[in-house]
Amino acid sequence: MVECSFCGRRAVYHERTAGVYRCDRCFEEHLEKKFRRTVNKNDLIGPGDRIVAAVSGGTDSVTNLHLLAQYLEYKEGEVLSLTIDEGIEGYRDGCLSVVRENSKVLGVEHKILSFEEVYGKSLDQLAKLSEEKNGPDPCTLCGILRRSLLNQAAREWGADKLAIGHNLDDVVQTIMLNYLRGDLSRLYRLGPESSGRAGFVPRIKPLREISEKEVGIYALLKNFSVRLGTCPHVGGMRTEVREFINRMEKNHPTTKYRILRMFDKIRPHLPVNLEDFELGKCEKCGEPATGRLCRSCELLENIGVERKKKRLISD
Ligand SMILES: [Zn+2]
Ligand SMILES: [Zn+2]
Repeated sequence: MVECSFCGRRAVYHERTAGVYRCDRCFEEHLEKKFRRTVNKNDLIGPGDRIVAAVSGGTDSVTNLHLLAQYLEYKEGEVLSLTIDEGIEGYRDGCLSVVRENSKVLGVEHKILSFEEVYGKSLDQLAKLSEEKNGPDPCTLCGILRRSLLNQAAREWGADKLAIGHNLDDVVQTIMLNYLRGDLSRLYRLGPESSGRAGFVPRIKPLREISEKEVGIYALLKNFSVRLGTCPHVGGMRTEVREFINRMEKNHPTTKYRILRMFDKIRPHLPVNLEDFELGKCEKCGEPATGRLCRSCELLENIGVERKKKRLISD
C-alpha cells in the first residue's frame, strides 16, 4: 500500500509535480484549498455576489457548480445553474437531468435555455444552413451563440459574474491556440477574470489552476453525478495542441503550470487597448455590438435565420 505523504492513510493520488501522495481526504482538502486560493488571489467573488454558473453536465462544470455553491454559502452569495441545450444529436441526452439532479442536491435554481426555443433551430440545423452558405463551422457557430446566450441570461438575472468550468488543461490549450493563431486580443481575454465592459458580465474561471485529471478524481471521490461524452464536432487544431501539451507534461512535469504562470506574468503587459473601439447595442438582441448587429445576430442574418425569443430570463 502506498501511504499518503501527509497522514499515512491509503493514497489515491500521486501528484507528480509536487512529488507527494495524497489520500482521499487530503486530496479533497487540497483541491478545495486550491479553488479558494484561485478565487481569493484574483478577487473573483465578493461578498453577496450573484453568480451564474454555466453547467453542461460534464465533470468540469458540475464540479465547478459544487465548489461555487460551497464557497458562496460562506460568502452569503447566490448561484444559479444555467444549461444551454444546443441541440446536438445524441450528445446532450441525459445532460439536462444530470444538471437538474446536482442543482437539486445543492438547493440551487436551475435554468435551461435551448437554441431551439431562442433561435427556432437546433445547432445541427443551424450548422447545415451555415454549411450551405459557406458560413462558419459548427464549433465556431456554437461558440458564438452559446457565449452570447450565457452573457445575456447572466445580465438579465443581474449576475455579478458568469462562472465557466474551464480547467487548467482547457485554459493552457486556449493560450497556446491563441499564440499559434496570433490573436492578441483573444489571448488577453484569457485572464482569471475577463473585463466587465458595458453589457458584458465578467467571466470567471475558478478551476483554471486545477488539472482535468484532478477535477476528474475529485468528482469521482465525491460521487458527483456527471455526464461523460465528447461533442461530435470537436477536433481540429485544439486536438493537436492538447496532444502536444500532454506529451510535454508527461516528459516535463509542471509544463502546464509553467505555461499558465508565464501567461499571467505577460498578460498585464500585452499591448491591447480594450477601449479602442466604441461598443453599442445590437438592434436585434441588445447584446454589446460594434456595429448595427452583434456577432451572433449577424451570423444568423447571414444564414437567413430570424431569432424567436428576445428576453431570456424574465418574461
Ligand atoms: Zn492523507
Ligand atoms: Zn444581437
